[in-house]
Amino acid sequence: MRIYELSKQLGIDSKELIEKLQKLNFPVKSHMSVVDDDTAEIIKHEVADLNQKEIEENVIDVDFPITVKDLAVKLNQKPSEILKILMSKGKMAMINQTLDNKLAQEIAYSFKINLRQKPSKEEEILQVGVQELKKRAPVVTLMGHIDHGKTSLLDYIRKSTITQSERGGITQHIGAYRVDLEHGSITFVDTPGHETFTAMRARGADITDIVILVVAAEEGIKPQTIEAYDHAKQADVPIIVAINKIDLPTANVDMVKQQLSKIDLVPEDWGGKTVTQGVSAKTGAGVNELLELILLQGELLDLKADYGRPAVGVVIEGHLSKGRGALATILVQEGQLSLGDIVVCGVFWGRIKAMQDDLGRFHQKVYPSCPIEVLGLDGVPTPGDKLFVVPDESSAKEIIDRRKEEEKNKRQTTPAHMRLEDLGQKGKKQLKVILKADVGGTLEAVEQALGKLSTQEVESDIVHKAVGAISPSDVLLSEVSDAVIFGFKVGVDASARDLAKQKGIEIRTYQIVYELIDEVRSALEGMLTPHIRRVFIGQVQVKKVFKLSKGIIAGSIVTKGKVQRGAQCELMRQGEKIFSGRIDTLKRFKDEVKEVTEGTECGLGIGYDQLEEGDLIDVFREEKIERKLS
Ligand code: GDP
Repeated sequence: MRIYELSKQLGIDSKELIEKLQKLNFPVKSHMSVVDDDTAEIIKHEVADLNQKEIEENVIDVDFPITVKDLAVKLNQKPSEILKILMSKGKMAMINQTLDNKLAQEIAYSFKINLRQKPSKEEEILQVGVQELKKRAPVVTLMGHIDHGKTSLLDYIRKSTITQSERGGITQHIGAYRVDLEHGSITFVDTPGHETFTAMRARGADITDIVILVVAAEEGIKPQTIEAYDHAKQADVPIIVAINKIDLPTANVDMVKQQLSKIDLVPEDWGGKTVTQGVSAKTGAGVNELLELILLQGELLDLKADYGRPAVGVVIEGHLSKGRGALATILVQEGQLSLGDIVVCGVFWGRIKAMQDDLGRFHQKVYPSCPIEVLGLDGVPTPGDKLFVVPDESSAKEIIDRRKEEEKNKRQTTPAHMRLEDLGQKGKKQLKVILKADVGGTLEAVEQALGKLSTQEVESDIVHKAVGAISPSDVLLSEVSDAVIFGFKVGVDASARDLAKQKGIEIRTYQIVYELIDEVRSALEGMLTPHIRRVFIGQVQVKKVFKLSKGIIAGSIVTKGKVQRGAQCELMRQGEKIFSGRIDTLKRFKDEVKEVTEGTECGLGIGYDQLEEGDLIDVFREEKIERKLS
């Protein structure tokens, strides 16, 4: 094949093709040069890829949705030019009309331009290059069953690490504190418990680097220990187990280790991977070792942050103080936060007037992994809200206004969470489940039955299982893990019901085990990719092409079978597939019809404006064949 023939097939001129081939290291001399068929095929693919790449890289930022006029300006075209293209697609539009985003993108593509949503003010501000990447302290949260000693342990660590000079000062609870040790620093979030932990995560704030799971040595693992573990596991955070109260005569560390082995937390000295440490919050035994283990784990995680950029942080706590106004504890995650900085935080903003730590000391500037209470916001933000520094007051206001607007819009639409019905569409291959049942026996039975439903393609994954009513903590876990909550012969706490409603989370309860299993089975079946079968309906041949104001219509004859409006089709030219789409319009004389049969003439439009006489159009239907779990 000669280059000029190939260029014709590709719809570009030979000069352009020769240039492209040069770029692709396929040097050819002239439009008369000859290439063999295989090479021609390769060239076709390469050129298509190159075109695609060139367009992808040719980005213009716009504000969607865009009007015909604005699009014309962005594309450097006359509006009439855009209207013409729209017409060829069978669409009538006015100059000031806003276009569907996809359509605008398509038009831009035909000019080899890729449209992209202009970054928001917020994105613009947050996009800064890395300036000073350095090591940062690990952020640690304590979790575990009530009364196993989380608070006592935090208190002990804090007191034992305060230096002589700091002693006697006023300590205040601000929700987090940082301890400086010989080999490094550690930041503790001192609102322990997995509910706070997951509530923060649900708001997009994964602040914890390491979880300390506290288990009392005399009581061992309790339901809330497992719950806490499930929450930590979902967050994919490393866990260190602190076996507390080893000072008690009834303490039984081996028993705890054995129990840990059963829930997939096999201790290191039992051949597993879980780091454990016996401690006493009362005598302080083992606490230093625990701190060393935390630092070691921190090293392994290789935690780094940019110390140079303007600060980004997360709200840990917030409250209104009489006389002082709104106070918020911020954990700085990146950059430096300084007195006088203007910040945006949730739907509030302000200038930082004062910064105070848990020991009552004032600071001028703080860095990553520092928790600090700030004064100056014009309202109390919610834990989990992001804070960041903005260049000026007007940017702050612009961002806040936009957020308030978004908030308003959001309230009108229900939040999107996993629903059983949606599973098929989402293409997920794993159905995550939170399972609550009335007694342990049924829990096991349901779990086993669900396990049997799994195949190579789909499976159910039990994120958390426990005996008892469905609680707010289950709802939170469901929110962050996108799990469906199933209850078997259990109720739903009133507060959990409210929370679920508010967050748009689905809770399903059952009294009969087979109903539960059946529903899970159909959900899993919905997740199997359906087989698609193509059913040939007919073929038409294009006899004459008419350019009408509404687009291109092909005067054709049905040569085989029949043609139906809305059916899928493929345009074939000289045995090659040129275009695939749908039969958009179908006419007999002047009338729109649904179907035309073999041997009959008709007019049709398929949304392609370069139809040619002699083109063949294959018409077919695609059938989805639902699959069943075998
Ligand atoms: P939390 O609910 O996990 O925060 O547990 P707390 O810290 O409130 O502790 C519950 C109870 O256990 C309190 O009465 C503590 O004094 C006691 N406790 C905590 N740690 C220890 C310990 O290491 N040894 C002993 N003997 N008692 C402890």
